[in-house]
Amino acid sequence: MKVKVNDTVLVITGKYKGKQGKVLATFPKAGEIRVEGVNVQSKHEKARRANQTSRIVKEEGPIDVSNVEVVCEKCGKATRVGHAVIDGKKVRVCKKCGAVLDKAYVKKSKAKAEEEKTEAPKKRTRKRSAKKADAEAATTVESTPAATDEE
Ligand SMILES: [Zn+2]
Repeated sequence: MKVKVNDTVLVITGKYKGKQGKVLATFPKAGEIRVEGVNVQSKHEKARRANQTSRIVKEEGPIDVSNVEVVCEKCGKATRVGHAVIDGKKVRVCKKCGAVLDKAYVKKSKAKAEEEKTEAPKKRTRKRSAKKADAEAATTVESTPAATDEE
């Protein structure tokens, strides 16, 4: 499905044309999604227990996924979704500016960069056995600049 939960979408056709909102749920089999503030329906809920009150619940009804386009965070335009493969992972990209639309991917790539930064000093376990080999230590420091802060 081109649309995922938490995407911002713009309704481009149909009864709710022009409305924009966050995707609350997707139903790939039915080809439908629920969008925040779009197709809000009132559900009458009757009290079933003594401490409950009857009330009207507003809930977004499903709309057809083909009626919406994903709004790109980077360029702010409603766009068709393209696909690209980055690091062996298939990601969704904006057809207009090429930005990656998958928030999970953007987050993950940031987390991965952090991980690589912190992982480098782990190699220090080798240092214990290499006490006398100062020359060797010098070369390992060269390859892992982050390890220079340890004595
Ligand atoms: Zn874009």
